[in-house]
Amino acid sequence: MDSKKIETSVIIIGAGPAGAGTSMYLTKAGIPHVIIEKELFPRDKVCGDACSGKTALVLRRANPDWLQELFKEENMFTPSHGIIFVAPNGKPLNIPFNPNRQPGEQAPGFTTPRMVFDNFLFEKLPSPYTTIYQEATLQSITREDGKVTVNFVQHGQDYTVTAPLIVGADGDKSAIRKQFLGQHTTEKTSAVGLRAYYEGVTGMNEDNFIELHFLPEVLPGYFWVFPLPNGMANVGVGILSERIREKKINLREKMLDAIKNNPNIAPRFKDAKLHGKILGWGLPMGTEQLPVSGDNFILTGDAASLVDPFSGEGIGNALYSGMLAAAAIENCIKDNRYDAAFLKEAYDDVLYKRIGDELRISTTLQKLCRFPWLFNFVVNKAHKSKALSNTISCMFTDMDLRDQLRKPSFYFKILFNR
Ligand SMILES: Cc1cc2nc3c(=O)[nH]c(=O)nc-3n(C[C@H](O)[C@H](O)[C@H](O)COP(=O)(O)OP(=O)(O)OC[C@H]3O[C@@H](n4cnc5c(N)ncnc54)[C@H](O)[C@@H]3O)c2cc1C
Repeated sequence: MDSKKIETSVIIIGAGPAGAGTSMYLTKAGIPHVIIEKELFPRDKVCGDACSGKTALVLRRANPDWLQELFKEENMFTPSHGIIFVAPNGKPLNIPFNPNRQPGEQAPGFTTPRMVFDNFLFEKLPSPYTTIYQEATLQSITREDGKVTVNFVQHGQDYTVTAPLIVGADGDKSAIRKQFLGQHTTEKTSAVGLRAYYEGVTGMNEDNFIELHFLPEVLPGYFWVFPLPNGMANVGVGILSERIREKKINLREKMLDAIKNNPNIAPRFKDAKLHGKILGWGLPMGTEQLPVSGDNFILTGDAASLVDPFSGEGIGNALYSGMLAAAAIENCIKDNRYDAAFLKEAYDDVLYKRIGDELRISTTLQKLCRFPWLFNFVVNKAHKSKALSNTISCMFTDMDLRDQLRKPSFYFKILFNR
């Protein structure tokens, strides 16, 4: 059968948050694009399912009604007002996102199963500018004479799509990244995580605080329990890949051991029931500011390694990088430039200017988390000092304040109660 030929302005590979973010903002700018997705939506994605204010920001900017639509569906999302850090010594520290919260105030964060959330985003994509191919299998990607050509098969039909620009939004195992940026990919920065859905976990916080348990055996990673709608919880554990290799850790065993035997965790799982399988996936962390574009291509989300190295959060940065990619593409089209030098200025430089500091601070925090005594020390002190626990709360929104955590003077002040 003959290959169907399509010419477009932009090809997006992947319709997760990064691809959806790019598409939403290309549509706003009236730029035609083709999305090629290998799965059929709704589809699952292994994740903790926790979304921060950055996710809300990108969606609000795309269309202010969308979040309200999501927030109306109580069985689709759970509003969260804070985080519980459990130090390696087992001591919990409750940190509200907003210590001065007013009654009825909308929660800054929320949890929502990715099966639901990604489909919610996906359903917003159809527009006169968007052509979507699901269940599509990539055959080849070539770059020639300033154009990228993608061959793929969908339901037995061959397609050939050509555009001056391709966006790699194809996640952790990005084919676009491998093909165009192979030599810059580093194994060392990555982490891995396991996720399970449990019903009937008891002792959840009444304001749906998400829980990060910094168990000594997985530091600087953590075990988590995140509340979800309908009495469900997302439970998992994340750890640096290098630590797994060094210590030959069996992560599944560690996770089940915590659920069965950890004195803070086990009693809460006494009557809990596992739904489905325990699944694993990679988290490409933004610990190094690697190139995220080149001649005729842009990488977004996990394909660009933008997961926060401390929190493990990647949905917000996937959507955010998609939004910035669309803005860069508008400039490419205006100037008819798709070369590496132009894209670096239009995309890489803007992206790292906006989120570079945040990634750098989180990288340092992740390194500090290797020292359980330091963690225990800060949590013990915050228990005794309202001012310190308020300072830590404000660190979620105030980057300058969060930067204090990198400085020895911060710990000196705590030590001497200054
Ligand atoms: C265990 C774990 C827990 C996590 N917890 C959180 C959390 O609580 N909060 C948070 O914010 N982040 C979390 N993350 C990170 C988050 O899941 C990712 O950062 C986020 O999904 C990145 O979005 P993306 O669109 O870049 O990639 P993805 O969500 O992976 O989407 C990529 C899309 O591309 C498609 N695709 C892939 N290859 C191809 C191909 N060859 N052809 C066509 N389509 C293709 C896939 O089917 C998929 O739909 C977690 C990750 C893991 C592994």
